[in-house]
Amino acid sequence: MSQTQPIFILPEGSTRILGRDAQRNNIMAAKLVAETVRTTLGPKGMDKMMVDSLGDVTVTNDGVTILEDIQIEHPAAKMIVEIAKTQEDQVGDGTTTAVIFAGELLKNAERLLEQDVHPTVITKGYRRSAEKAQEILNNLAKPVTIKDTDILKKIAMTAMTGKGAEAAKELLADIAVKAVIQVEENGKINIDDIKIEKKVGGGTEDSELIQGIVLDKERVHSGMPKSVNNAKILLLDTALEIKSTETDAKIQVTDPNQLQAFIEQEEKMIKDMTDKIIKSGATVVICQKGIDDLAQHFLSRAGIYAVRRVKKSDMDKLTRATGAKVVSNIKELSKDDLGKAGTVEEQMIGDEEMTYVKECKNAKSVTFLVRGGTSHVVDEAERAVKDAIGDVIAAIKVGKVVGGAGAVEIALARQLRDFANSTSGREQLAIQAFADAVEIIPRTLAENSGLDTIDMLTDMKSKHDAGMEWAGIDVFTGKVVDAWETGVIEPLKIKTQAVKSASEVAELILRIDDVIATSGSEGGMPPMPPGGMGGMPGMC
Ligand code: ADP
Ligand code: MG
Repeated sequence: MSQTQPIFILPEGSTRILGRDAQRNNIMAAKLVAETVRTTLGPKGMDKMMVDSLGDVTVTNDGVTILEDIQIEHPAAKMIVEIAKTQEDQVGDGTTTAVIFAGELLKNAERLLEQDVHPTVITKGYRRSAEKAQEILNNLAKPVTIKDTDILKKIAMTAMTGKGAEAAKELLADIAVKAVIQVEENGKINIDDIKIEKKVGGGTEDSELIQGIVLDKERVHSGMPKSVNNAKILLLDTALEIKSTETDAKIQVTDPNQLQAFIEQEEKMIKDMTDKIIKSGATVVICQKGIDDLAQHFLSRAGIYAVRRVKKSDMDKLTRATGAKVVSNIKELSKDDLGKAGTVEEQMIGDEEMTYVKECKNAKSVTFLVRGGTSHVVDEAERAVKDAIGDVIAAIKVGKVVGGAGAVEIALARQLRDFANSTSGREQLAIQAFADAVEIIPRTLAENSGLDTIDMLTDMKSKHDAGMEWAGIDVFTGKVVDAWETGVIEPLKIKTQAVKSASEVAELILRIDDVIATSGSEGGMPPMPPGGMGGMPGMC
């Protein structure tokens, strides 16, 4: 009687899931992630309260924030979280949309797998649908430019709806658009030129746009003026102090006069530096490094306002806001290096002193000061503001926008179905499944608003058939309305990016039929389905 020898090709403790089990397991995990954020979609979406291991609380409605905060371990689920991150990096908004869409693509694929449609047929159908979807979306979109401030404001408002900044939405949208227009230069917009500074105290309606930079710093000496008008600003990236020697140096002093001379020599060097600054006509000194006591004293006596240890990134912004050049060598300082601001002043915000460099003419770098009653309110307002700024920039950069509130998705699904009908074979099923998946967005919007999903979708579809181009859901009245007219407008990029990354990840996950995890691999292994083979988890 021959005995079969077991063959081990994987290290002890490895686990492995194969074939349909692997697919089922991955799809299940991806769907769970989508399910988690699903209730937050849209203006009537609910918030999530997350408590971390230290007990810190975050309350948010923002897809990517939620997914980053909860620690997800399942490898396929992690891939879904990556979609949210890509969406956040590429557009800054639409993270929930992308994740829900990916979840639905996989759910519909599962249905096809059960009907014995091969995964490669599904992935091919999905890829063709995704390409077609880009084309359809581009054709549906309307042009927009930086001059269309009304549309841009609507985009900003749409981005913030339901994000906990409701009370001051108009004001914040207005500031967001103004900020973007302000920093635009020769058709280029750099999001870093809009500094968002959060301050607890007051209400969201006290938020403001500063034509310049707000520094989290107070003036170095109480003898200095609290406020300087028509400021001539010197930006310095070298210290106003005598450099201490690298190694401990010993100086032999043989008589008291020598010591005195030594101190005087140091004082003279500081005095020379500050004299040079005073002579340049500077009335404000912003220093990236330290300013020692004696230098503070001389500057203060000359009525100069000074701050020290300012971040490099803030120094860069200050050059763009005030027109100053950063000076590294005081000896070469000239008055041409100085920048200008209408006012530089110290202001108490909440319980902290801050330096405002404001009223800069033609500032190419600005500060969005976000205020709110508590830190949770300010944090959520900041996320809303970031979405708004990201969306406005995305709209201008691509130059195209679409109607939201589910309208663009219904239109897209409709045209994708036409496309499916023009194809044949089993791939047609996959394209239809893709079109169905697109409708998860309007369906979820309706569901989250407590509306009847079937009624709403039927109504929307018939209005689209009747020629209402942007028929979408008015989540507040429960009626089907023209989304464009009600001002629910979004950048095209949100939708194209969401379709692109969601379908890519869905295809990637569908192609996996074998999950091998060595013991101790980061993230660990999903629970074994019955019948799976492998080692014995938990026995190492
Ligand atoms: P995401 O993370 O995907 O941006 P949101 O919670 O911001 O998720 O919801 C975005 C969805 O809400 C989009 O489909 C958008 O069209 C829709 N939406 C935004 N404002 C409104 C509104 N006033 N009425 C109806 N739908 C809206
Ligand atoms: Mg959004």
